[in-house]
Amino acid sequence: MSTENNSKIRTRFAPSPTGRMHVGNLRTALYAYLITKHDGGDYLLRIEDTDQERYVEGAVDIIYRTLEKTGLIHDEGPDKDKGCGPYVQSERQAAGIYMEYAKKLIDKGEAYYCFCDEERLNSLKTSVGEDGKEIRIYDKHCLSLSKEEVEANLAAGKPFVIRQNNPTTGTTTFHDEIYGDITVDNAELDDMVLIKSDGFPTYNFANVVDDHLMGITHVVRGNEYLSSSPKYNRLYEAFGWDVPVYVHCPLITDEEHKKLSKRSGHSSFEDLIAQGFVTEAVVNFVALLGWSPEDNQEIMSLQELIEKFDYRHINKSPAVFDYTKLKWMNAIYIKALDDAKYLETALPIVKDAISLPVDYEKVALMVKTRIETFNEIPEMIGFFNAVPEYDVELYTNKKAKTDAATSLETLKEVLPILEAQEDFSNDALYAALSQLTEEKGYKTNYVMWPIRTAVSGLQMTPGGATELMAVLGKDESIRRIKAAIEKLS
Ligand code: GLU
Repeated sequence: MSTENNSKIRTRFAPSPTGRMHVGNLRTALYAYLITKHDGGDYLLRIEDTDQERYVEGAVDIIYRTLEKTGLIHDEGPDKDKGCGPYVQSERQAAGIYMEYAKKLIDKGEAYYCFCDEERLNSLKTSVGEDGKEIRIYDKHCLSLSKEEVEANLAAGKPFVIRQNNPTTGTTTFHDEIYGDITVDNAELDDMVLIKSDGFPTYNFANVVDDHLMGITHVVRGNEYLSSSPKYNRLYEAFGWDVPVYVHCPLITDEEHKKLSKRSGHSSFEDLIAQGFVTEAVVNFVALLGWSPEDNQEIMSLQELIEKFDYRHINKSPAVFDYTKLKWMNAIYIKALDDAKYLETALPIVKDAISLPVDYEKVALMVKTRIETFNEIPEMIGFFNAVPEYDVELYTNKKAKTDAATSLETLKEVLPILEAQEDFSNDALYAALSQLTEEKGYKTNYVMWPIRTAVSGLQMTPGGATELMAVLGKDESIRRIKAAIEKLS
């Protein structure tokens, strides 16, 4: 299991099924995947459901779905037992694994039963920690119970927890790949609970036991676990196990530099997909939250990420979630999608947004290079349903040398041409209108600008005048040109 003897890398993603897939969790999953796959190692999925109060129905499905969608395919997990199972902590608890290991620590004098009730615990002295939160360090009261007293309490069915027995003098040092060597005074190490009174292990205990038994070589997780890591280290030492390589990932903040939370509206993978982002773009973006390759390449497929990822270059300063950058990146991914794949997502949106019988595919493809997210489509094509209210000032275009008056004249000239036109395809319309501009010596835009304005009522449209008319069809185009003439008269 030791990383020193160059054995295969094994990492795990160990989510708690508590709801949506937070962007920070997705990044942990991704980094753990990249580290191991860069080296041809194994990627494990472990479900950490020991906190029964936080369990959310359906959350395990979300975990599976997200991993599958993002391509972070695990080699081992609850559904793929390769001999380290069960991979679900509640099942491991039921199998007695944690109790067995807690008892081993008790035998070594590294842990002890504690029977203190709520009232006694609440009466313990408190102090204020660095973060301003109150901390209550357990006073080792039950450490002094004799073997007989412990046995009598157990026999009497007295509720208990099992605590780690930490030294009160000296220091503990551990190494994190991102944060370097961290040393703490042992006096600050609480005798944390390993087994709770409901018989379940705490995360603090279960993560160490499981990571060891599953042969995890590199532990990747959020930096909120950094401060507990000395205690985990002491557990590894107490068992006489190799300590894994720790990779604690930096905090992710919103643009106000506050911890990325629900408030931002885009703190989970599901939020982002619902907001019209492409899965591959999200994965690419999330990879860059705290890391960048040496060559600073920004657009990378999962395969390229695997090749380039080096956890030693993860940054320890907080990573800011830059929504504008994500949109920019997403536009690149949308443009790169092949049309069939693009239409899978875009077509239903277009059909839903337009009530007229138009060529939906054409409309969808028209906006492909203009959108940053799929959710921008309805607004961009809403004018196909009806021309919005607009100001005649829109007909004024300095470059094209048009205004409301010239436009009225042009539209009047154009109307009979359109009425006579049988082939309403983009090319045919363009040819017919080119004939007009040539005959009259007009600049192309002198004619196209008024038409485009008349049929869309917008300054910016996803296509040119003839493209829009080809989609709208002859009847609707002519109806809109006539309405514009009336509006301008
Ligand atoms: N179950 C923990 C969480 O979801 C995992 C932490 C870890 O990766 O060790 O936060």
